[in-house]
This record gives sequence, structure tokens and C-alpha cells, in this order.
Amino acid sequence: MFNLSHPKLLTLARTEGYAEVTDFLEDHALESVAPAICMVPGCDHTTDLEPDQRAGFCEACGRPSMKSGLVIAGMI
Ligand SMILES: [Zn+2]
Repeated sequence: MFNLSHPKLLTLARTEGYAEVTDFLEDHALESVAPAICMVPGCDHTTDLEPDQRAGFCEACGRPSMKSGLVIAGMI
């Protein structure tokens, strides 16, 4: 079951310039890196990480809280 309405996923897609989450996921589903966002409330740091990243280091808040958009969506 995909989760396309997660607030962090919406923020990540918009930060990357997409109006629709589905367009964002389609463009990044098959790439070797994928945009990731920090899951900490109040920290919306984004960067490109491995598509299956679940606990990447956030350079903004210092926590292992970076998740790829594909993981947030439940595609991986
Ligand atoms: Zn952060």
C-alpha cells in the first residue's frame, strides 16, 4: 500500500519542484539516487541519498533521520 499523502513526502516533492507526488515518484523510481527529506518535525532538510535510505544523517539537525521519498511512499 503506497502512502502518497505523507506531509513530508508532499514537502519533498514540492521542494524538488513537483506539484504532484506521483510525478515526483515516477521520475525518481529508477534512479541510483533519490531525493530524501529529514523526518524530524520542523526540520525539512532535503538531499539526494540512496533510494532505500531510511536513516541517513541530517546535516541540518544532526540526527539519523533522513528518509528517501521512495521509502516514505512505501515503494521500497
Ligand atoms: Zn534534520
